[in-house]
Amino acid sequence: MKKSLSQFQTIVEELLKDEVENPMADHIPANELFDRLDLSLEEEPIDEERFDKALTELVMKTPRTATNAFFNQLFGGRNEKAILGDLLAVVLNNSMYTYKAAGPQIGVEKVILRQICDMIGWDDQSDGTIATGGSMTNFMSMLMARDANDQKVRFEGLEKKLTVYTSKESHYSIPKNAAFSGIGRDNVRFIPTDERGKMDVEVLKGTIAADQANGYQPVLVNVTAGTTVLGAFDNIEAISAVCEERDIWLHVDGAYCGSVLFSDTYRHLIKGVEKVDSFSVNAHKMLGTPLTCSIIVVKNKQHLRDSFANDASYLYQTDHDEFNLGKTSLQCGRRNDALKFWTLWKRVGTKGLASIVDHQFALAETAREYIRNNPDYTLYSFDDSVSVCFNYKGIPAKDICTRLYEESELMVGYGSFREDEFIRFVTINAQNDHEDILQFFKTMEQFVEDHNLEERAVSS
Ligand SMILES: *Cc1c(COP(=O)(O)O)cnc(C)c1O
Repeated sequence: MKKSLSQFQTIVEELLKDEVENPMADHIPANELFDRLDLSLEEEPIDEERFDKALTELVMKTPRTATNAFFNQLFGGRNEKAILGDLLAVVLNNSMYTYKAAGPQIGVEKVILRQICDMIGWDDQSDGTIATGGSMTNFMSMLMARDANDQKVRFEGLEKKLTVYTSKESHYSIPKNAAFSGIGRDNVRFIPTDERGKMDVEVLKGTIAADQANGYQPVLVNVTAGTTVLGAFDNIEAISAVCEERDIWLHVDGAYCGSVLFSDTYRHLIKGVEKVDSFSVNAHKMLGTPLTCSIIVVKNKQHLRDSFANDASYLYQTDHDEFNLGKTSLQCGRRNDALKFWTLWKRVGTKGLASIVDHQFALAETAREYIRNNPDYTLYSFDDSVSVCFNYKGIPAKDICTRLYEESELMVGYGSFREDEFIRFVTINAQNDHEDILQFFKTMEQFVEDHNLEERAVSS
């Protein structure tokens, strides 16, 4: 083990050193990958030297998501305390299904879940669990909504036609999950949004009423706290009134920006969250833990048990179910995703988590201000979002993003809202400072000039 640990340290140090000079790894075109790197698996063992070389090369050529050149997705950065926790979770290698197999690590998860429920304002009937990502915590909410509507379904299967509601701007896991849960993709109603990307509550009401009149049973409204492209927040307060009146499960998909819960300044964006049935948040997005750490909490923990508990005499042999977390999880064997969040939270406190969130919004404001003050740019996104969407000099977003990536300059993606396609710049790496944000624009502008991208856009 000692040798591998020191190998680990050497490789990581080399990576960190190289990242300072080269925030982007060299781009390897997918069709050259297997020729350029020593990836093949062979019958015979290889010597340590070749192994070390292959491994180091692999690490050095892998996209760098923690540097100030990565703005591509809804995660980024490298929080050292969270990494410490995750490394220890790997070394300890517990499975979170029972107290017997995970011991105090169960307490680590429970204390996180309890704290989040308390922050929402829920009593001790609430609880939660951790799954492998936001898609899966959303899936759990849909299953609980389905079962809450009719306790027979999980035994007998679906008989009625169920419907679920989500905005056109919501995450693609919702229709996938509708397929998984037997509800069916065709029974997802994609509610249009207003001009800022928030679900249109009047259309939602009308659609539910029409479905009920046509013999459908509405079971779930999914609202989004931070839509994937614009970072918009649906109006939880107004939609909770709709759901309460019609007895429909309300879930908040806060995978992207549910972490505003931790900030006194931005918690108002999820006003009314205490009224919902379930709430999910990815600590691996705004809070910057390593992937993945996706949490779902429910106001009434009985629903977790109803939908996910199963007896297994070979597994649950000691201790109370309150400490055997397998009774409320989607999986059987389950990685310890709690420890990395706990090490971070323990070290920086809730105030430290708040300042991570606040800093991301401040970085976004820096970006928006830069864009607003520069006539070469068009801004498509709004305040109170860590997604900053824009175009530059009328150049197609796709062209700039792809060229920047292929030439190992910057990683940034594009998205669209209604008719517009634009660059989506995400200020989610809390290790960045305002200089890094301004540097991004400088680098991009220089790149456009050096590659005559503007001329090409005009002439094509
Ligand atoms: C990222 C995201 C998800 C999916 O989370 P994963 O952890 O990537 O599965 C779901 N909903 C929203 C709004 C997201 O931004």
